[in-house]
Amino acid sequence: MAKTILITGGTGFIGSNLCKKLIQDENNRIISLDNNYTGSIQNVQELLDNPRFTFVEHDVIEPLEIEEKIDEIYNLACPASPPAYQGERAIFTTKTCVYGAINMLELARNNNAKILQTSTSEVYGEPLVHPQTETYRGNVNPIGIRACYDEGKRTAESLFFDYNRIYGTKIKVVRIFNTYGPLMDSKDGRVVSNFICQALQSKNLTIYGDGSQTRSFCYVDDTVEALIKMMASDNNFFGPVNIGNPSEFTISELAELVREKINKNLSLIYEPLPADDPTQRRPDITLAKEKLNWEPKVQLAEGLDKTIAYFASKL
Ligand code: UDP
Repeated sequence: MAKTILITGGTGFIGSNLCKKLIQDENNRIISLDNNYTGSIQNVQELLDNPRFTFVEHDVIEPLEIEEKIDEIYNLACPASPPAYQGERAIFTTKTCVYGAINMLELARNNNAKILQTSTSEVYGEPLVHPQTETYRGNVNPIGIRACYDEGKRTAESLFFDYNRIYGTKIKVVRIFNTYGPLMDSKDGRVVSNFICQALQSKNLTIYGDGSQTRSFCYVDDTVEALIKMMASDNNFFGPVNIGNPSEFTISELAELVREKINKNLSLIYEPLPADDPTQRRPDITLAKEKLNWEPKVQLAEGLDKTIAYFASKL
């Protein structure tokens, strides 16, 4: 059945990968919406000629009126890299999360559309439960430098559930863990893009802290598949559901892998650990397996090869 799908954050890293996947289905018409703060129109360049694809420059902080009837909304709009969402952008980040959620929920309500919120593993903060299950309520510092993002995303989750309870809005909430792959921004400061771009340019790799903190890295194609499966899931299943790869690595292990793949002679340089940087993170994906019949297929070594090839072609 023909569907019109709105993707906010539609020129960002995950958003543009999602646009490229969804456009493959000829029944889908895609509206990609972004303010291009961290996204880039170049990420969707090859789609601009497609009559089933439209790009709209808009900031989700402002209400959105669209003439067309919208069937599904994927709400991805928000800077997601700590250097991009913190500091001078902190208030803007909270507004993006909160006003963005309200504006898109209103649009969903007026269109009787299904709406999926991309929440985050950051709702768990510095987790005291490991691996993290969806029932864990988290350990966020509400006044720290990451709070604009963490609390913004937490508020967005509560708004989604309130719209569902009050107006019956058809909601879906996923919590995305660290994701990497092609169309990442080389300058957004995340660990995978930093290490690969540093190594490709024969620079030393920057480890923040002692490198013992862990993350679990999911290849973007797997993440995109999970988002689409969540949107298509049973109407009574709202989530939240963790989406991530449960294979956990220390940041030192990641640096070692990147060195082995690109240049073993590069040195590591140690820089201060940013405040409130979580010590460990790994998703429990039992719920995603059960409800979405989903689990990641691409393991880190393979995903890194693809991501290295992407950055090598860009730099
Ligand atoms: N990190 C690092 N070197 C870098 C960039 C990040 O050691 O050049 C660390 C960062 O302090 C964090 C981890 O890598 O512990 C993941 O950082 P990223 O910004 O990719 O994601 P997030 O902190 O949001 O999980």
